[in-house]
Amino acid sequence: MREYREFNAERRSRIPAALWPFWAPDPETFCRWRVQLECDCVTEILTPGNEVLPVEQQWYDPVHQAPLPAGQVLCSHDNSPPAPYRDIAEWGERREVNFPADAVEPPDWMDAETWAVIRHDEPHTSAFWSVTLACGHVTEVIAPDLEWKPADGSQRARAKSLRKMKADFEELWASDPDAQAEREREHTRRMLADGWPSPRPEHLCYTCSWAQWIVAYQRVGWLVPRKPEPEQKRPRPPSRKGLERRLFQAEAEAEHLRKRLAELDEGSASAEAR
Ligand SMILES: [Zn+2]
Ligand SMILES: [Zn+2]
Repeated sequence: MREYREFNAERRSRIPAALWPFWAPDPETFCRWRVQLECDCVTEILTPGNEVLPVEQQWYDPVHQAPLPAGQVLCSHDNSPPAPYRDIAEWGERREVNFPADAVEPPDWMDAETWAVIRHDEPHTSAFWSVTLACGHVTEVIAPDLEWKPADGSQRARAKSLRKMKADFEELWASDPDAQAEREREHTRRMLADGWPSPRPEHLCYTCSWAQWIVAYQRVGWLVPRKPEPEQKRPRPPSRKGLERRLFQAEAEAEHLRKRLAELDEGSASAEAR
């Protein structure tokens, strides 16, 4: 509760009050659930209201600013599996990013020779496309050029340079087996077999390393506990004395009604006789 209030206070300082019901709602609207994830972690989550089950709810991936598949949450571990390659299933929105000219000096992690080849000596603009991968996670890929659009498909390397690349990689793998990790080597093989496509039809999904399915859930209750419903006043069982009194009254009433009927019958009989 305190955590939510602190989180919401910070959030509300950035959001106009009129939008609070949508983007920073009161804690009263949330329901608490204890959930078990496929990584075996047990944690607690909140859902808006108690109608939607945790496995039906879509949580947000703040890194890629996209919803996760329903029923998945992020859970980071020191021993999280490495990011797998996933095929691109769908192309989304495009955005352009402007970059300043690169520094003349190579960064620490690159040798001067390679830097000289890839360095941009002038400011440049690149197009990024948001993509949904086969796992349902969203990431962003860089387009080969500003004009490229998904309908253009991937460009392939020329046969001659493809042959050279294949030979170079085979030589590298033979001379230095540790040059590429198994995952990268397999990826490289697939790309070479596919003609070295650009953009790549598959990408690393870092979200897959963290995303965990909810495998079990248990409702804890409302984040703000509700006041208990006032107990309905049940009528007390009648006492023997009370019942005797009601029976006596009912019998007296019945006796009275029988008398009235008898009087009526007598009256109509004497009228007929006359
Ligand atoms: Zn976990
Ligand atoms: Zn993924």
